[in-house]
Amino acid sequence: MNIKELITKSSKEQREALINKEVSALELTNAVYEQVEAVDGTIGAYNSLTKEYAIETAKKVDEKIKNGEKIAPLAGIPLALKDNINLKSYPTTASSKILKNFISPYDATVTTKLKNNLIPVIGKANLDEFAMGSSNENSAFKIVRNPWNLNKVPGGSSGGSAAAVSAGEATIALGSDTGGSIRLPACYCGLVGLKPTYGRVSRYGLIAFASSLDQIGPITRTVEDAALLLNVISGVDEKDSTSLNQTPPDFTKDLKNDLKGVKVGYIKELCSEGMSPDVENAVKKSIETYKSLGAEIIEISLPLIKYSIAVYYVIATAEASSNLARFDGVKYGYRTNSAENLYDMYVKTRAEGFGDEVKRRIMLGTYALSSGYYDAYYKKAQQLRRLVKQDFDNAFKKVDVLLSPTCPHTAFDIGSKVEDPLSMYLTDIATITANLAGIPALSIPVGLDKSGMPIGLQLQADCLNECKLLNVAFKLEEVVQFNYSTPSMTLV
Ligand code: GLN
Repeated sequence: MNIKELITKSSKEQREALINKEVSALELTNAVYEQVEAVDGTIGAYNSLTKEYAIETAKKVDEKIKNGEKIAPLAGIPLALKDNINLKSYPTTASSKILKNFISPYDATVTTKLKNNLIPVIGKANLDEFAMGSSNENSAFKIVRNPWNLNKVPGGSSGGSAAAVSAGEATIALGSDTGGSIRLPACYCGLVGLKPTYGRVSRYGLIAFASSLDQIGPITRTVEDAALLLNVISGVDEKDSTSLNQTPPDFTKDLKNDLKGVKVGYIKELCSEGMSPDVENAVKKSIETYKSLGAEIIEISLPLIKYSIAVYYVIATAEASSNLARFDGVKYGYRTNSAENLYDMYVKTRAEGFGDEVKRRIMLGTYALSSGYYDAYYKKAQQLRRLVKQDFDNAFKKVDVLLSPTCPHTAFDIGSKVEDPLSMYLTDIATITANLAGIPALSIPVGLDKSGMPIGLQLQADCLNECKLLNVAFKLEEVVQFNYSTPSMTLV
């Protein structure tokens, strides 16, 4: 296999080539940079490159291989890091003007783990500003184009991470998911995206959007790669008080288990109406596949889903308004140069530094938390959040995993929803509840629609049941045999 082909494969094939010395980690990394050079002017997946670090890491991997030492399972595998996760001495911008010149003073815990595993970080991947959005059109710097069709959005907010993997500009990626931001881009770009159980992965060094919902997770070409990357990043962290004190299992251990007797529940409210016909067919076909694999199919009703968007947009904006208060021109990044006094400096810095969507959310959240409205909005939303969790608890007494589309439709045209935030918010109808409930959820490609755009199926499991989730996804992947090669991968 030549190296141009190799960069479009899964980590498994790349590792084999590394171990067999058919290619060096340095050559692999350089080939990925060549692809970035060739396509990223069009795709826009990266805000910045971290070449020095990537090359240095690749060389360390080669040294180990040369000395006959064992290397970690993902050592030498090129990774795209969402630009809201710190990598020491490199920029972290969250795709916001307010952090445009910010250099990370420390490593996020996940980044330290990447370093310990000698995983080369190719660059910092574009995103919706502060991870707020579903299309990556809210980046203050540039939009990201979907490698399957350059006129379509890649999904958001981790659009750069997904587009990078999809276009051969990285093999694996890390994104963050507050309401669907890993799963939606994975869905739109024909990739696997996994949001782990809340607390499974440390959030230390991730720029906070909504702290009770945010989780870092993998975006990859295969289910096995997602499991391998989760092995790297998960585990308790004393620097994050919400990280779970649980020793993570080997997430690859159950991948190949057969599905006889496994109970798969399809979510009635998401699988009965509102989908595009192609998505609906793909969901039906997946249900049939699971039947043929020996799973038991059960209908599950989650009636509170209809409130989930409203609940999410109260809680997420409330937390965001508080988290983003720290960007005041004093401590980090941008400061206005026309202030008359301290208050004026705060106001102008924030007015000039934040984009429209971020401002909209800060205003919404501040309103929801203000005295007189707190009980009516924030408290009500928290009460409903509890009920949503209860619905899931009851569902998981009956089934092992829940199935639905990841999104009722495939990727939409760039520009088609920017003027209408509510219709943008609705793209998250299927993904948001997993964050409210803290459960793990995954998107896996199951086919293409008539216009050639990828369709994603969402699977969800109870807290800490990632192994089951990955197993159920892996068995479907074996049948679907999705071909994740995109037109952009062949642009070189
Ligand atoms: N699209 C959702 C939002 O705009 C989710 C974003 C996310 O998961 N970071 O808030």
